[in-house]
Amino acid sequence: MAEKDKRLLRGLEQEIRFLSEIGAEFVFAAEPKKALQSGQRGGAGEPEVAQTAPAGTVRKADEEKRRVLHDLEEKILHCTLCPLSQGRNRAVPGEGDYSAALMFIGEGPGADEDIQGRPFVGRAGQLLTKIIAAMNFRRQDVYITNVVKCRPPQNRTPVREEIEKCRPYLLAQIENIAPRVIVSLGKPATDFFHPSTAGMSSLRGNFIKYGKILVMPTFHPSYLLRNEGNKEIKKLVWQDMQKVMDALSRK
Ligand code: URA
Repeated sequence: MAEKDKRLLRGLEQEIRFLSEIGAEFVFAAEPKKALQSGQRGGAGEPEVAQTAPAGTVRKADEEKRRVLHDLEEKILHCTLCPLSQGRNRAVPGEGDYSAALMFIGEGPGADEDIQGRPFVGRAGQLLTKIIAAMNFRRQDVYITNVVKCRPPQNRTPVREEIEKCRPYLLAQIENIAPRVIVSLGKPATDFFHPSTAGMSSLRGNFIKYGKILVMPTFHPSYLLRNEGNKEIKKLVWQDMQKVMDALSRK
């Protein structure tokens, strides 16, 4: 089969998988691929470029990064910088691969996350996990976190002061993980990179540059759940995720 046709077929397979994963009728199973790590080049399924730095240097850098990120998580777990800390059961620092090329950022923990201390484990989280699987990645190979690390009361949108207090944590996570692409889920996460009065319908689907990192705004999984019957919204999210996959496969 010609390379062009193979690519077309792969695209169709991925679309079918995505739509079936998030509620359409097809079922399609394939082996998930590991997400590229932040320092690597080449797309999913392409050969990885050989490590150029001496192995010892890389290991040391990784260890240092793990230490920094682990210390950061400890700080988050005990943070009292804003009033959200008073109402939480557990702070939710984030989880995943410290070397992930792909990072997902949501708004803030909900009830399930507050109890478990893990991001995106409720209904919206299950949908996010399906989206990640439909992209042919495993949840543990990306990094998932939120703009604020403690649950806002009644799941309200975090206010500016809360976001500002939490800002250094997310900035440090981004700096140390150094993903190549970030998916900002919903308006507060998108505003973190590019504050505006525009709505998600006009922001989604267009990359924002954050330093060298590409940020793809898309609809929050909760919005998909609130509009469960609307296949158009699912298709738009899939288009956005295809752009993310394309960007990750570029050199
Ligand atoms: N919604 C979010 O924005 N983040 C979570 O962790 C869960 C739900």
